[in-house]
Amino acid sequence: MNGRISDDVWKIIACPHCGASLHGSNQNVTCTSCQSHYGYTKSGAIDLRLQQPKKYQYDFLLGTSLLPKSGFDFHPLKEESNPHVDFSKQYVPHHLSREIMSHFPKAKTDNSLMLDLGCGNMVHRNVCEYAGFKYVGLDYDSNEASILGDAHALPFKDRSFEFILSVAVLEHIRFPFVAMQEAYRVLEPNGIFIGTVAFLEPFHGDSFYHHTHLGTYNSLQEGGFRIEKICPSDRWSVLIAQARMGLFPKMPHMFSIPCIMPIQIMHKIWWRLGSVISKKATEETRIRNTTGAFTFIAHKPASTQDNW
Ligand SMILES: [Zn+2]
Repeated sequence: MNGRISDDVWKIIACPHCGASLHGSNQNVTCTSCQSHYGYTKSGAIDLRLQQPKKYQYDFLLGTSLLPKSGFDFHPLKEESNPHVDFSKQYVPHHLSREIMSHFPKAKTDNSLMLDLGCGNMVHRNVCEYAGFKYVGLDYDSNEASILGDAHALPFKDRSFEFILSVAVLEHIRFPFVAMQEAYRVLEPNGIFIGTVAFLEPFHGDSFYHHTHLGTYNSLQEGGFRIEKICPSDRWSVLIAQARMGLFPKMPHMFSIPCIMPIQIMHKIWWRLGSVISKKATEETRIRNTTGAFTFIAHKPASTQDNW
């Protein structure tokens, strides 16, 4: 053990600046190539955030179409009828749902690692360990994360994780395409990437780019992912999100939700009337256009060229 880092995790750690191996003790960690120095925080986390600016080369390919010719469905997420992991007796942590957890993979081996990218206070640890994974929590700034790091320069070797979870994080990323390429790089071929991103939530916690369904598709595609699902949430609608986070923050739900109830009822009636007049005014379009956040599920293809 090195601080809070197990030997398994130590094996996959790399310099966020140059990608080379690190060597060190409980006090100091040094890159074997670029000689960058890293340390530990007071709370015992290893601090692998960039210690100097890093240039990242990014090529855009213009003039391509975004969605496949066959189209893409942006429907609310349904609970998987045959899940890999039975979470039925498990508590559902904050920001997750039974629907999202029903799509979690099961660890392939006893040594399978998963990354909670932007782990905060690690509320997802129990369910990820229940699925058989060794849990690695990384955050840019958290007293509880075992690793501090930057999503734009992940301190891990290529193809280190079977599963990446990133809940309510993507909107806080300053350069989303770079972070998506980094998530892709550290994921194993066939690995699964599950996450959520804010759409019509208010500005919160230094959020940069709230994503529409097309923006979510684009960010994932720029990362290289094969996109399976991008799903709006009906329960976490713009009205609920605004009431809880923007209009009446910290107000008990029993008071804030009734405040928006009349608008919510009028909104649903109006769209129902609209659906009589226009075929475009479907329930799915209403939910997609007015959701507070999207859930996404994507894979890294089996045979890939890494970005590095
Ligand atoms: Zn280095």
